[in-house]
Amino acid sequence: MGAVRTEPQLKAATRTDIKKFQKLTEFVLDKIGIEPQWHVTVTLDQEDELPPGAAAKVVWVTNYRDVEIFFEYYNLKDRRGWLRHLLHELVHVQMHAVDAYLQEHSGSLDTYQGIMESTVSEIANTQFSLFNDAYYDEYKKWL
Ligand SMILES: [Zn+2]
Repeated sequence: MGAVRTEPQLKAATRTDIKKFQKLTEFVLDKIGIEPQWHVTVTLDQEDELPPGAAAKVVWVTNYRDVEIFFEYYNLKDRRGWLRHLLHELVHVQMHAVDAYLQEHSGSLDTYQGIMESTVSEIANTQFSLFNDAYYDEYKKWL
């Protein structure tokens, strides 16, 4: 259900870092319980692919189940921070239906985005805590 790819131009990255990034990503995608109809691709990418100040973003096409999550390459070295970002983006995926509804029915883009971000952040913080409690001993080898 998930795939991991890295942009070939990531010259600053070491092979070990990329391998750890891939293994940890696959582990999270396997454990997190996203519905199997989702096809999630996680891409480690150059900075200019993301909005200013963003560490990650999720992109999907409404009514389709293919999702791509982009990460800035500096996350490669901060895998614990990256884990937090990945879980956050996966909550966005899990809340896709609510997101689509609010986007259509909210009068204000700022209001809709504020509601989504604060809700997703609250859930993702809990996910991060629970994920650490459940799996730290298994995933720490990729930190
Ligand atoms: Zn978010």
